[in-house]
Amino acid sequence: MKLYELTAHELHDKLMGREISSVELTNALYERIDEVEDKVNAYVTLDKENALAQAAKVDAKIAKGESISVLAGIPGGIKDNISTKGLRTTCSSKMLGNFIPIYDAHVIERLRADETIFLGKTNMDEFAMGSTTESSYFGVTRNPWNLERVPGGSSGGSAAAIAAGEAIWTLGSDTGGSIRQPASFNGCVGIKPTYGRVSRYGCVAFASSLDQIGPITKDVTDAAIVLNSICGKDEQDSTSLNVEVPDFTKALVQNVKGLRIGLPKEYFGEGIDPRVKSEVEKAVKKYEELGAAIVEVSLPHTEYAVITYYIIAPAEASANLARYDGVRYGYRNLEAKSAAEMVTLSRTEGFGAEVRRRIMLGTYVLSSGYYDAYYNKAMKVRTLIRRDFEEAFQKCDLLLTPTSPVVAYPIDGKMDPLSIYMLDVTTIPVNMAGLPGISIPCGFVDGLPVGMQLIGKVLDEATILRAAYTFEQATGYHKVFAPLGGKHND
Ligand code: GLN
Repeated sequence: MKLYELTAHELHDKLMGREISSVELTNALYERIDEVEDKVNAYVTLDKENALAQAAKVDAKIAKGESISVLAGIPGGIKDNISTKGLRTTCSSKMLGNFIPIYDAHVIERLRADETIFLGKTNMDEFAMGSTTESSYFGVTRNPWNLERVPGGSSGGSAAAIAAGEAIWTLGSDTGGSIRQPASFNGCVGIKPTYGRVSRYGCVAFASSLDQIGPITKDVTDAAIVLNSICGKDEQDSTSLNVEVPDFTKALVQNVKGLRIGLPKEYFGEGIDPRVKSEVEKAVKKYEELGAAIVEVSLPHTEYAVITYYIIAPAEASANLARYDGVRYGYRNLEAKSAAEMVTLSRTEGFGAEVRRRIMLGTYVLSSGYYDAYYNKAMKVRTLIRRDFEEAFQKCDLLLTPTSPVVAYPIDGKMDPLSIYMLDVTTIPVNMAGLPGISIPCGFVDGLPVGMQLIGKVLDEATILRAAYTFEQATGYHKVFAPLGGKHND
């Protein structure tokens, strides 16, 4: 076993047992990055010098016999829309191509307190808008399971880094599926916590009422470990919840006996690749064997989720992205003849096509005359979607669905934006309702990983972690490694 193939909790044991040092481990990760990064392109920026300095500090602590956290000395990667003091944070956009933050996001402060190692910043769709990582200004990330395929998105770099052994754990952000969908395309575990569990302070805002940071890892135990580090009340985020954070590793119990798992019928119908459906149905059988009770439920407003999302998310994005005007920070056109022209040119040149499309859409639905017809109506439908879940949870303890209707598709630009938007039908409702959702590997189609999604009640990450852990331990899909195959593997 190579060091980069191990999980955070396995490596922690090796650090504590003095079998390896953090410097050795961190160097092993950079060697792996050197080996595969020209094929995968999971990173935008690396930070080797600081990472190794931090690793040496952890080694010194271990040598002195001081106690350390489970994540101490374990190298991870951070999605490039999460602010890191002194380290370039680009959102994979030309607009922020040279932006060096002067402060850390709350999650980064927490992880620093746990003395973890940041290898670098991972690639993503520009401003987290997308499902393929193709809209990155820094080039597409390739899927380590098949280098001709997309890694999903928008946290494609964070998921591909895990699958390719270029990080032990990573952070992503999820507005409509951007942690869960790339996790599923790359055979990883990815969890979007309940809205408000994790502070959004320092996460570059896309759609503030939907955005949430979460981990992407190799197994469920590591997901719980990273959650333990990043969750908790933060005064700097007014939507951060003032609730107790449980020790999520306590939820890692192998037992689903009597647990009621709901299958929303709308998630198993038309539009789901039958091969994906069949893998997920096998997982359902497994749960039955393990003693869970399966119940059918209905989420009748599912069909409106994507269209409503594409009103609400762009509306919020158009307001959030108004700050990039070439005046304060970010890209500026230097040839403009007036201030107004400077703002216009900076924005048209600094943003890519997808970001501009969303700003236009958002500005349109918020303009007077259309606000009631689109935005207000969408907000009402959002309430109906939330109520669907509340009703379904009367009959079950958690929901099980495919994470995505498809497996990773080819990087050939043949998918039009609308078809790609529609594929988020399985993840978007979870953000609309603010619920926790996890994706874990549950099978393969043509050698490509399939993910299943478990959706929990508000603040009930524990139940989905327990169910995910039980399935993982009973099966072992998380132990299969990506082959880095395909034409680019020469
Ligand atoms: N794919 C969705 C979108 O394009 C979700 C993105 C996300 O979760 N950040 O908006």
